[in-house]
Amino acid sequence: MSTIGNRLQAVAERIRRAAEAAGRAAQDIQLVAVSKTCPPEAVREAHRAGQRAFGESYVQEALEKMDALADLPLEWHFIGPIQSNKTGPIARRFAWVHGVDRDKIARRLADARPPEAPPLNICIQVNVSGEASKSGVAPDEVLALARTIISLPRLKLRGLMAIPRPTDDEAEQRRQFRTLRTIRDELEAHGIATDTLSMGMSDDLEAAIAEGATLVRVGTAIFGARAKKTGRKDPEENRLHKA
Ligand SMILES: *Cc1c(COP(=O)(O)O)cnc(C)c1O
Repeated sequence: MSTIGNRLQAVAERIRRAAEAAGRAAQDIQLVAVSKTCPPEAVREAHRAGQRAFGESYVQEALEKMDALADLPLEWHFIGPIQSNKTGPIARRFAWVHGVDRDKIARRLADARPPEAPPLNICIQVNVSGEASKSGVAPDEVLALARTIISLPRLKLRGLMAIPRPTDDEAEQRRQFRTLRTIRDELEAHGIATDTLSMGMSDDLEAAIAEGATLVRVGTAIFGARAKKTGRKDPEENRLHKA
């Protein structure tokens, strides 16, 4: 089997063990393979090994990859920071958008989603690490944003997403993931039921699954270390690109 195929199997095994340890069913945890910076051929290889859902962070790169892979039935997830001038192609070409953190972006995605397409699946990105991060909506603003998204046509609110502050301390990882789960429960108490907790990456998927993740976004553990991109304006993006 190919290297990517072997790594996918290893990640599936990590998910299975983490689910078992948490008394959960592994089928309840979806794997999104994060293919940003990877060539189309790597995605093709992962697809041959059975992977269907892929995550991308850069619109232009993603569109080129989608075109090169148009013969495959893939499910594309946009997981990067969303610039308002890029909402058009995101709404037209992706099935999921994980990083929605303001009304304006939600409205623009709704306006641009083609009426004949299925509703665009949306996760609200929540800032669970406090001061350390500028991306994501503050926990006390999630309810209002959720209500806006529900009121918009052509969007389907699926749940919440977070990128916690990186730490090797598992208790601290779990604390941040638990924050997201608690907010999900609060939404539910307000009558807003969701089915997705998008949390957990290569280094912390076990902690995320222990706290209820239903979707993990894993790049490095499948595709290997990413080449470092330089010159990005957004420090958050720079951080995420250090493999
Ligand atoms: C890059 C990225 C990932 C994957 O990170 P790895 O550590 O390579 O698994 C997950 N989520 C988001 C939002 C990302 O930008």
